[in-house]
Amino acid sequence: MSQYEPQKTEPEIYRLWEKSGFFNPDKLPKRHKKSFTVIMPPPNANGPLHLGHAIFVTLQDIMIRYKRIKGFKALWLPGADHAGFETQVVFEKKLEKEGRSRFQIPREQLYQEIMEFTLANKKVMESQLKRLGASCDWTREKFTLDENVIKIVYQTFEKLKNDGLLYRGKRIINWCVKHQTSLSDVELKYEERKSPLYYVKYDVPELHSFITVATTRPETIPADVAIAVNPIDKRYENFIGKYAVNPLNNEKILIISDKTVDKDFGTGALKITPDHDKADEEIFGKHPEINKESKPVINFFGKMEGEKIPAELVGLKVFEARQKAMEILKNNNRLNVEFAPAGIDENYINNAALCYKCGSQIEPLNLANQWFVKMTEKPKGGKFSLRDLAVRAVKSGKIKFIPKRFEKIFFHWMANIKDWNISRQIAWGIKIPDEGTADVFDTWFSSGQWPFAALMSAKKDDFQKFYPTDVMETGSDILLFWVARMIMLGLYATGKVPFETVYLHGLVRDINRQKMSKSKGNVISPLEMSEKYGTDAVRMSLVVGNTPGSDPVVSEDKIRGYRNFANKIWNAARFVMMNLPENLKDIDAFAKKSRKNNALKTEDKKNLKELAMMAKKMTKDMDNFKFYSAAEQLYHYFWHVFADKIIESSKPRLNGSDTKDKSAAQYVLLEILKKTLILLHPFMPFITENIWQTIPNKQKNLLMIEKWPE
Ligand SMILES: [Zn+2]
Repeated sequence: MSQYEPQKTEPEIYRLWEKSGFFNPDKLPKRHKKSFTVIMPPPNANGPLHLGHAIFVTLQDIMIRYKRIKGFKALWLPGADHAGFETQVVFEKKLEKEGRSRFQIPREQLYQEIMEFTLANKKVMESQLKRLGASCDWTREKFTLDENVIKIVYQTFEKLKNDGLLYRGKRIINWCVKHQTSLSDVELKYEERKSPLYYVKYDVPELHSFITVATTRPETIPADVAIAVNPIDKRYENFIGKYAVNPLNNEKILIISDKTVDKDFGTGALKITPDHDKADEEIFGKHPEINKESKPVINFFGKMEGEKIPAELVGLKVFEARQKAMEILKNNNRLNVEFAPAGIDENYINNAALCYKCGSQIEPLNLANQWFVKMTEKPKGGKFSLRDLAVRAVKSGKIKFIPKRFEKIFFHWMANIKDWNISRQIAWGIKIPDEGTADVFDTWFSSGQWPFAALMSAKKDDFQKFYPTDVMETGSDILLFWVARMIMLGLYATGKVPFETVYLHGLVRDINRQKMSKSKGNVISPLEMSEKYGTDAVRMSLVVGNTPGSDPVVSEDKIRGYRNFANKIWNAARFVMMNLPENLKDIDAFAKKSRKNNALKTEDKKNLKELAMMAKKMTKDMDNFKFYSAAEQLYHYFWHVFADKIIESSKPRLNGSDTKDKSAAQYVLLEILKKTLILLHPFMPFITENIWQTIPNKQKNLLMIEKWPE
C-alpha cells in the first residue's frame, strides 16, 4: 500500500465486483433472502452522463449496497431510454450542424440513423455508469425499444382501448411549429410576455348596437364561432341569443352565455375560437346551440390558411397576420377606443406557453386523429379512473413521498389533470399500433410503464419476485412527467403500486446556486472529476449536504475536499496495517485471541462503544433515507475521532514494551477500521473495497457482501 491512486485502481475494483456475479441477486449467498428492488430511471441514451445522473447513480447505489450488505436480495435493474422527442431534438441539432434537416430524410432512414446514434450513446453511457460505481445487474439490462418491452406497451394500449379509456379525437393540442409535433401539457414552459390586447367591435344588427371583445389574437377572428358572456353580467343581458357580425369575414355568429366567462377580464365578452384555444374548445363543446362548424385558420407551419380569411392575411405567419388584422380592423373603425388609446392596450402581459425545448411560442391547433387517454373516467366495469387509482395509493400511504411536501404538488396536479395526448408526430419512438397513423407514442407512455415492463421482460419470474419494487429515486423535476404516470399506469396494468417509496432529489447547482449549463460555462463533468479525484470523492460530494428534494450545491473544491478524505482513509488504514502483528494471516483468529486475553483498557471499551453508538445512529439514518446525515457522521467520526484521536493516542502503546497492551491496541484499531470500512462502503465503495482486499483474512470475502455492523 503506497499512495492512493483511484484512477488506476477503481476500474480494477469494478471488474472484481463484476466477476463475483453479486450484482445479480440470484448469485448472492444464501443469507440474502428478502428482495429489495430499485428500477433505475433509464437515462436518455442521447449524450454523456452529467452530474444529475451522477446524483441518482450515487443515491441509488448507496441504497442498493446498503441493503445488499444488510442481507437483502438486492436488485438494481439498469436500463436506457430511447427518449423519443428529447433524442430527436438532440439528433436534429447534429443534423443541423451537418447542414441537413430531418424533413428531407425519409422516415425509415431517419429512424435507422437515430437508432444507430442512440445505440452508440447507450454503450458510452453504460461504461460511464460503471465508472461511477453503479452496482446494477447488467445481466438484466433493458432498453425501452426492446421487442419484449414494446410488446408490453402494446398490451397496455389494448387494455386501455378495451376498457374504453382510449379515444381518438379532434382536440386542441399544443403544437410546436419548429419541431412539427404536439407536446403534452407538462412539456410546456411559461413566460410572461407583453402581448397587446385589442378591443374589437362586433356589430349586432338586431339591436342596432355592437359588442366589444378583448383579444390578444385578432388574426384568429375569422375562426370565431360565437361570442360568450357571463349569464350574470347585466351589461349583456339583451345580447344573449342575438347574432353578431364577424368583423373580418362578415359571418353571423351567435352570442351565448357561459358561467366560466370571467366578466372582469377585458370587456367581459369573449370570442370563442375552438380551433385555436383550449378554453374556447371546452366552451364550444358545451353549447350545441352554436350552429357553426369550427374551422382552423392557421396551419401546422404557423401560417394563415383557410377559406374564410381576408385575402391579405393568407400565407402570413401568425405575428405578421396579427399586425395585418389589426390594420384592417383599424381602417374599418372596428377598434373600440373607449377602453384603451386607439383601442389597443399595449402593456397587457400574457403568460405565453412555449416549447420546453426550443422556446417557440406554442400554437394551440386542432389536430385530428390524436390519441388520448382518459384520466378521470372509470374504465368499463372498473371502479376507479387512472387519476383516482393514483390519488388513492398516495393518500392511503401505500406510496410514500420523500420529502413529503411533494405530495401536495402531486395532488394539485392530479386534481387538475386533463386527458393525456399520447401521440407524437415524430419518427423516433414506438409506433402506435394502428394502420391509419404514422405517429409514435409519447415517450412517457412507455417509460410510464417502466417498473413492470422492465421486470416482466427481464428474466422469467422477475415480476413475481421483485414487483412491487421498493424505491423509485428520481429528480423532482419529473414528478409529473414520469412518477405520476408510473403510479397511474402501474396500478392500472398490474393492480399493484409500482413502488412503495418515491425519493426525489433536486437539481445540481454551482457554488453561486446557479443552474449548471453549457452557456454559463459552469458545468462540472462527473466523469472528468472521477478521473481527477476518484469516483468516491465525487460520490461523497453529491451526498453530503444533499437533503431530499432540495438542490445540492457542488463545486470542484468540494470534490477535492473528499479526495483529501479518501487520502485520510488510505493513510489511516495503512497505519493500522503496518502496525499489525508480524506475519498476521487471519484477522478473525487474531480478534478471537485478543478478546480472550481480555486486556482492553477502559478507554478501548469506551472507543468501541462510541463506534457502536455511531453505527446505530447512522443505521437509523440509512433506514430513514437520511443519507446526507449518515455520510456526515461517518466523515466526522473517521477523521476527527478515529484518525485524529484514537490512532494518535495508540501510538505510544504500539511502540511500548507491554505486549499484551500492544495487542489490545492493535485489536481495537483493526476492529474500528474493519467496521468503518463496511459502514463507509455504500458511500465510498472503491477505496473501502480496495483496503478490504489488503486485510489479512482467511475467508477472502468481498466487502460488498460483508455483514453490516449493528
Ligand atoms: Zn419546439
